[in-house]
Amino acid sequence: MSNLLPSPETVECGPSPGTATLEALPDRTTRLGALEVHRVLPVRGRRLIGPWCFFDRYGPLTFGPDKPMDVAPHPHIGLQTVTWLLSGEVVHNDSLGSECLVRPGQLSLMTAGRGIAHTEETPASNSGKLDGVQLWVALPEASRHVAPEYQCTKEQPVVDCPGGRVTSILGGASAGRQYSAGVGIDIAVDPRSRAALALNPGFEYGVLLAQGDADLLGVPLQPNTLYYLGAGRSELNAVSRDGARILLIGGAPFGEKILMWWNFVARTQDEIVEARKSWESHEVFGEVPRYNGPRIPAPTLLGRAL
Ligand code: MN
Repeated sequence: MSNLLPSPETVECGPSPGTATLEALPDRTTRLGALEVHRVLPVRGRRLIGPWCFFDRYGPLTFGPDKPMDVAPHPHIGLQTVTWLLSGEVVHNDSLGSECLVRPGQLSLMTAGRGIAHTEETPASNSGKLDGVQLWVALPEASRHVAPEYQCTKEQPVVDCPGGRVTSILGGASAGRQYSAGVGIDIAVDPRSRAALALNPGFEYGVLLAQGDADLLGVPLQPNTLYYLGAGRSELNAVSRDGARILLIGGAPFGEKILMWWNFVARTQDEIVEARKSWESHEVFGEVPRYNGPRIPAPTLLGRAL
């Protein structure tokens, strides 16, 4: 996924104060070709949840001969990208030569580190369905210049919990490489059930209802809305009438100020200027083989970050 909101501004990200209640974060909607994308992080008032700094929700949708996801070559630095599907397929290719046909239940995890370029596309042979999320994890200072890496798993660990099942996307039993304390979890709540999941009180969390219906703390969750839970909780209880899928992200408060611009997570404006220049001059990031079409040019960098 590439950050394609028009005229991306430099966004300053940092830890935000916790809250004792469920805080609904309204999404911003954008369009990625035929694909409507709900950006639920970063949003006004919330830039980070643990190390998670970006959360795009797309689908569910059905389609015919078209190609709803077609993200041309674009660069990343200083972050990890996570692609997690509830239905459909996405093909990942990158400048390391990695290729993966990602399906529901498989983790597609790309560590950009000091620089990588990639594409994400709907494959020609597909189910005609697409439903998923794209998440970014900010890399901490000590790790943000690591060599780029790509992991694509066959499946992710699933365990039963009261009232449902939990799948580790990142953290816990997931094989996905991690550079700071955080979790990404897909919770399936059975119909007419209450799913209970232990939380780390030292982590702050956010939840998004991805399918079905669910109540959390007595609040009926709305789709395309991220709810901030803050820290200090030891348990999550979700109640569903007809069954639900809930995505939970969390982690220790990141504790570092980051600068986000376009597809870059950095610390200084100079780094962003340098990364942009490298992409425009075909340096550092490499090219993505097997993509048929031009790369995405870097947007104009407007103004200075604060
Ligand atoms: Mn991307």
